[in-house]
Amino acid sequence: MKETDNGPEPVWMVAANVVAWRRRGAGGQQLFPGTRSFKGGAKVYVARVHWGPGGDRLTVIGRERHTGRWIVIDTATRHLHGFRPKLVHTPRVLARLNDVGNRRELGPDEALTISETLERYAQQYRAELSPHSPHPDRCLCHACLTGE
Ligand SMILES: [Zn+2]
Repeated sequence: MKETDNGPEPVWMVAANVVAWRRRGAGGQQLFPGTRSFKGGAKVYVARVHWGPGGDRLTVIGRERHTGRWIVIDTATRHLHGFRPKLVHTPRVLARLNDVGNRRELGPDEALTISETLERYAQQYRAELSPHSPHPDRCLCHACLTGE
């Protein structure tokens, strides 16, 4: 981590938000707010993309839903939306990013390209979840809320 007089140097990252509600359980018939680790709507930062099997999983940094502590955890890309480039100054986020290690530095343009790709993947993986089961009544999942 590079340091300046005012703390760690800011770093371009991809930020996103956890979906408010997601389908879960058999046939995706239950709705769950957020993920096990994050509240719905929580802001997270992508620390690593697992491109191998098609970008379906990410390592993210965010505040744990119960404790508010900054954690690093793998999550499914479909649980996130609103991917966007963000110049991050928050020292605790940068410290966690440093812990992840083995990271290539991004510029704003590359962060934007990755954001657009991940947004497509997230939408695609949401659509592929239980494709033959109708959504529950009055579904609140991201696809139903936004009509994506
Ligand atoms: Zn739905």
